[in-house]
Amino acid sequence: MSTADIGLIGLAVMGSNLALNIAEKGYTIAVHNRTASKIDEFVVTAKEQGLDGKVIPKADLSDFIQSIKRPRSIIIMVKAGKPVDDMIEQLLPHLEQGDAIIECGNSLFTDTQRRFDYLKPKGIGYLGVGVSGGEEGARHGPSIMVGGSKEQWHNAEAVLTAIAAKFNGESCCAYLGEGGAGHFVKTIHNGIEYGDMQMIAEVYGVMRDGLGMNPTACAEVFKEWNKGPLNSYLIEITGHVLAAVDSQTGKPLVELILDKAGQKGTGVWSAIAAQQMGVPATAIEGAVAARSISSRKEERVAAEAIYGKPNRGNTDVTLADLEKALLAGKIVSYAQGFAVIAKASEENGWSLPLATIAKIWRAGCIIRSRFLDQMSAAYAKGGNANLLVVPDFVALMKDSHPSLRKVVAAAAQGEFPMICLSAALSYFDSYRQAQGTANLTQGQRDFFGAHGFEIVGRGSDLHGTWPSTL
Ligand code: NAP
Repeated sequence: MSTADIGLIGLAVMGSNLALNIAEKGYTIAVHNRTASKIDEFVVTAKEQGLDGKVIPKADLSDFIQSIKRPRSIIIMVKAGKPVDDMIEQLLPHLEQGDAIIECGNSLFTDTQRRFDYLKPKGIGYLGVGVSGGEEGARHGPSIMVGGSKEQWHNAEAVLTAIAAKFNGESCCAYLGEGGAGHFVKTIHNGIEYGDMQMIAEVYGVMRDGLGMNPTACAEVFKEWNKGPLNSYLIEITGHVLAAVDSQTGKPLVELILDKAGQKGTGVWSAIAAQQMGVPATAIEGAVAARSISSRKEERVAAEAIYGKPNRGNTDVTLADLEKALLAGKIVSYAQGFAVIAKASEENGWSLPLATIAKIWRAGCIIRSRFLDQMSAAYAKGGNANLLVVPDFVALMKDSHPSLRKVVAAAAQGEFPMICLSAALSYFDSYRQAQGTANLTQGQRDFFGAHGFEIVGRGSDLHGTWPSTL
């Protein structure tokens, strides 16, 4: 008998927590996993949490599918990439017209678009859903970015809306557009997350090496900043990370952690998408580059031996400068991220709602912040303009960019790397100048490649008569 409201395949960290969240909200959920022992372990966990009555464990895939009410909504939360395609092929022979696969992993949006296009003619719905918030979010309320088949979205809407995080009572789950729209927005979310993290790390570098602050003192600053305009999950957890003490040595844990940052690909995907569409996203690109440089520890050690230790004493900035610099960098980074989303929306015909995206990022996800509430309110007034010219943010930027300038200048003098904050400043300075220097670039392009240039009042595709000697 078909009794489950929804099904879920893939009981690793994310899948099992999402399944518990769904059961807790009163929905009956059928669960399946390739390795059957994981199903048994999940049932034990569900029992411990008093939720086993809502769980239908099924080791056999066919039994699993038959146990779900039609039209079926089946969440797959398996490893991204080929396992998703393999799982779709395994499911297909058992599915019926109108059923839907809801893929909630970190998939590349072009893969999601391909899968959506593949299943559409077969009458099977495909939803590519970005889920942010890690393990904790999955269990207690993530931010959920839905893309794909609109009809099947309505079948799953009640469940997904119920399990999402809430901000002032509003669910942080929304349908954003067809095909790969949901996974695209999740990718840019992750790119913005990279930027936020890198800018925080750059400011921490100045606190540690320029202002001579120990991790405890830094933690206190982040705790204070979390009460102001920078209030956000990442600022909050930075304080917690800086305050942690290693139980073996009694030393600050952060000082023992090797300075090599990992990455799983979504930051790179964001940067590539931005570049492919011709939208500058220098803060995201800078953050990806910073992680890549960090991973080259041995090369950095060798280069320091050649150039000597950076000379970083007595940096002439205050904590107030750093706070405002971070805010200005954040405005630029979000301006870039949202510009990428706006362009992708136009190119793919997605009609991505910027105000809604800012809204569903206000809670549940890693970049949740007070700032996003201001952003959603600003975008709700209409338009998709670059955040740097949205009136509510112009005043903030006018107030904070001098601090960003001061901090980046001090960093350059003090030999601190600021890949992300300096990229944000350069973008701002490029974006806000009416007269740039690309006139020279166009002259060079015409000189060596006859690419042509424009002269206002005379027309475009003009060519110069260039002297061969000076
Ligand atoms: P994961 O380690 O990415 O994947 C493990 C799950 O995939 C297990 O259930 C595993 O089954 C299954 N699996 C792997 N290959 C399979 C195949 N060929 N056929 C069938 N099942 C297969 O799990 P996760 O960390 O929970 O992440 C799930 C998805 O969410 C990923 O796309 C991840 O990128 C995304 N995500 C993760 C986080 C996070 O914080 N971890 C946050 C947001 C999004 P077995 O038990 O049989 O091996």
